[in-house]
Amino acid sequence: YPSFNRIQLPRNMIENSMFEEEPDVVDLAKEPCLHPLEPDEVEYEPRSSRLLVRGLGENEMDEDEEDYESSAKLLGMSFMNRSTGLRSNASGYSQSSDGSCSVPSLRTMVVCAVVLLIAVSVIMVIYLLPKCTFTKEGCHKKNHTMELIYPLATNGKRFPWAKNRLPSNVVPLHYDLILQPNLTTTEFAGSVQITVNVIQVTWNIILHSSGLNITKATLTSAGWNQAKPVEVLEYPVHDQIAVVAPDALLVGQNYTLSIDYSSNLSDTYYGFYKVSYKDEHAEKRWLAATQFEPLAARSAFPCFDEPAFKATFLIKIKRDEQHSTLSNMPKVQLSGIVQDEFSMSLKMSTYLVAFIVANLKNISKETNRTLVSIYAMPQKLGQVEHALDTAVKLLEFYQKYFHIEYPLQKLDLVAIPDFQAGAMENWGLITFRETTLLYDDKTSSAMDKKLVTAVIAHELAHQWFGNLVTMEWWNDLWLNEGFATFMEYIAMERTFPELQTDEEFLKLRFKTMMKDSLNASRPISSAVQSSEQIEEMFDTVASLLLMLKKYIKHDSFQAGIENYLHNHSYGSTRSDDLWDSMNEITNGTLDVKKLMKTWILQKGFPLVTVKRKGKSLYVQQERFLRSVESENWTSDASYLWHIPLSYTTSNCSSFLCPYAYLLDQKSATIELQEEVKWVKFNVDMNGYYIVHYAEDDWNTLINLLRTDPIALSTKDRAHLINNIFSLVGIGKVSLLKAFHLLDYLENENHTAPISQALFQLNLIYDLVEKRGMQNLAARVVDRVKKLLGSKIDQQTWTDNGTLSEREFRSTVLAFACSHHLGNCGTTATELFKEWKASNGTKSLPTDVMKTVFTAGAKTDDGWEFLLSMYTSSVSEAEKHKMLEALASTEDVRKLIWLMQTSLEGDLIRAQELSHIIATVSQSLPGHLLAWDFVKENWEKLIRKWHALNLETAYISQPEMHIFLTLQVKTFFESKSEKISQLRCVKEAIETIQLNIKWMERNLAALQQWL
Ligand SMILES: [Zn+2]
Repeated sequence: YPSFNRIQLPRNMIENSMFEEEPDVVDLAKEPCLHPLEPDEVEYEPRSSRLLVRGLGENEMDEDEEDYESSAKLLGMSFMNRSTGLRSNASGYSQSSDGSCSVPSLRTMVVCAVVLLIAVSVIMVIYLLPKCTFTKEGCHKKNHTMELIYPLATNGKRFPWAKNRLPSNVVPLHYDLILQPNLTTTEFAGSVQITVNVIQVTWNIILHSSGLNITKATLTSAGWNQAKPVEVLEYPVHDQIAVVAPDALLVGQNYTLSIDYSSNLSDTYYGFYKVSYKDEHAEKRWLAATQFEPLAARSAFPCFDEPAFKATFLIKIKRDEQHSTLSNMPKVQLSGIVQDEFSMSLKMSTYLVAFIVANLKNISKETNRTLVSIYAMPQKLGQVEHALDTAVKLLEFYQKYFHIEYPLQKLDLVAIPDFQAGAMENWGLITFRETTLLYDDKTSSAMDKKLVTAVIAHELAHQWFGNLVTMEWWNDLWLNEGFATFMEYIAMERTFPELQTDEEFLKLRFKTMMKDSLNASRPISSAVQSSEQIEEMFDTVASLLLMLKKYIKHDSFQAGIENYLHNHSYGSTRSDDLWDSMNEITNGTLDVKKLMKTWILQKGFPLVTVKRKGKSLYVQQERFLRSVESENWTSDASYLWHIPLSYTTSNCSSFLCPYAYLLDQKSATIELQEEVKWVKFNVDMNGYYIVHYAEDDWNTLINLLRTDPIALSTKDRAHLINNIFSLVGIGKVSLLKAFHLLDYLENENHTAPISQALFQLNLIYDLVEKRGMQNLAARVVDRVKKLLGSKIDQQTWTDNGTLSEREFRSTVLAFACSHHLGNCGTTATELFKEWKASNGTKSLPTDVMKTVFTAGAKTDDGWEFLLSMYTSSVSEAEKHKMLEALASTEDVRKLIWLMQTSLEGDLIRAQELSHIIATVSQSLPGHLLAWDFVKENWEKLIRKWHALNLETAYISQPEMHIFLTLQVKTFFESKSEKISQLRCVKEAIETIQLNIKWMERNLAALQQWL
């Protein structure tokens, strides 16, 4: 367990209490040693090392600090990371895994205690003599930072607040916001009136503002006879302003703060931004929209921009005559022609506020007193029907599932023509990328349909989980997002069973486990990192929630969720609140909190080894870790999970089956009722662990697959394949045994196990191919042909069959064509020719459309035709497939042109760039090219994208050449230390090393098998 003492906390308390009028040390003091499993209270970490010494300006901040700031801005969300970084730097007693003081030996602890004492004395002295400087002593990794006492505002005056997070002495109740964006000049003017309530006497109101030019500020109160002008101090380092009140602000009183300001519409995808698009007459048009999560509401209006400061909002937008507007709430009036007013919102967080100024069209449908509308560009209105039906059905589902009505009278889902993320759950006004909302029968494939449905299901789940009940601080975002991802699957399974999303969820678990088994993995709830890293955790959390749901049974789980949402409606929560709500339901029979904490606070997941002897099953757990050092497979012995084991046996027929057993020790013995022929653990892979059996039991299972595969469910069969290859990865099982297991595939008819086998073989293919062992690679393909040849031959070039059959066809034919199996290439080229001859009017089967385009893009002629079709197509689904095909060419000039054009953002939208780079870098020469492109345009890229999506897109190719790896590493290290520490970078590098190791170990077996 990472359960460490918390002696650093008192030190912080002292530091805080010195400089604040209202020391909110309560939060810090509350938790010290009560919950040894609680992760660092990252959110309460004061920006203590930001305290500036009077006389020293911000520009003299030490370099590390600046680095934090810039990389934090870059990462959008990684501001949480700053405080963690500081923690591991400054107060090294913490559990941080990379600080030099991370393992608190007795000696370290003693030293730290002494240092603490010294620090306390030093601080006391400073407290008395506030003008002097001191150097903090501690278990630093390096740099002894100069502590600076007062932050300075831009005008040189003392800024009265030193922390990154706002004080809680003043809370917002209501915002009256008037905005006037000018889509021609890109400027906007704003005026906000914020009603605040004073909790503790103060002379200042501290709130957020970023890049706003404040022209006027006044304060009024019921007791005053007129509004008084106030001074506004700015401290851009924290995006904060301080309003200096003319009199003390009294407890319990309400005040109204009025601020007039102006700013520019952003040309990134973040904040209040502007994008251009072509309308139905191919004329250039402008649209303004918002993306506030996580920290950009402050760049549209001054506000208390933290999720826990919920308030009501009344929004008015002044606009040009030809535009229309949307916001979270329904429009109440169109006053005159230029100002739209929206009704008052419910209590909500600032990051969920949204508004759009555009010329979009919509279709609508009413359900249960809520008007659901889908908005898109007029020429795409034909593609919104699927989204409308889906949204209505899902909205109905969630209201029933949560037993809480959707509280707004309207719900708008809007397709934005240029959008960075997949979608954003703004309350009542959800924004989407066009590919995640629009569906076109003729060009959208089975997978596209699933994607649209999934994204809508995810965003709708947020209307409750996230919007109605919000995490108190961003460090619990994993819970919000993990839950929405989990609900996305539950909702789709119930509402659209024909989409067979349970198999999709299974695939997600396979993928997630692969990442989580790396050394670079992190505990879910420690330091929250960049948005990408948080995203990676969502899938783990979703998988863990599934395990919990299966263990406590669906009804209890649902009751727990309902309980949680009811208890905290319109409020803010921490992850513990969810487990507490569940515990109210389990009522002492199971401590959900205790169980879940073992999964959330430790990194990775367990490997369970099962040995069967007669009626006894001996089970044992350790950490499952893919490690580069072969001698050290089993890592830290201190890892212990509470694992809800599930298993099935040859005699499984009673209602108790599958059986459950909670393994909360290192090892245990389970007694069976009777002797059985075979036993399989982790039924349907609902649990988040890998299982290893004794030699005999593996052989029995392999034999069972061969003789009677349907004795096991399809998910169990897919799981066995995934599981055995995972074990090969850590050297527990020989590669030959895994291949031996695959031999049963000739009799397999279900897509889940076949897809999984194909996935594993593809990994091996890539491994040998990229090592230049073409001969061996060809033999892998031969082997696949032998195992799956009949299935490949059976495929038709149509859209017939169930969804899972159609998806399987997509995968198998794409594989066959790219490896020149059978007559795949010929058929695809033939279809492309016909399509081209018809000038793109002949409809192609959607599931193989990409394969056909890819075959066609191989010739200059075909490529150019495809490009011209790309620019004229109105279906994003089709364009997406075309673009992938265009980027799959081997012609270097074309690839460079594609990347360059997308960077310019005109002919190919800038939102596609990360996808293009990812596709281009799939081939080795393309990889080098993409790499050069990223390096050359680095500054432009990070400015536009704000986050590091690009980098993730680039790095996520697991099979990079080792030489490139070194380059990548050096490059990111040269950019910023923080970036090179990113999980995706670490993962990429670790994966490469693991692959090399894998080859060393398995090459012989591979040659033998082939
Ligand atoms: Zn989400």
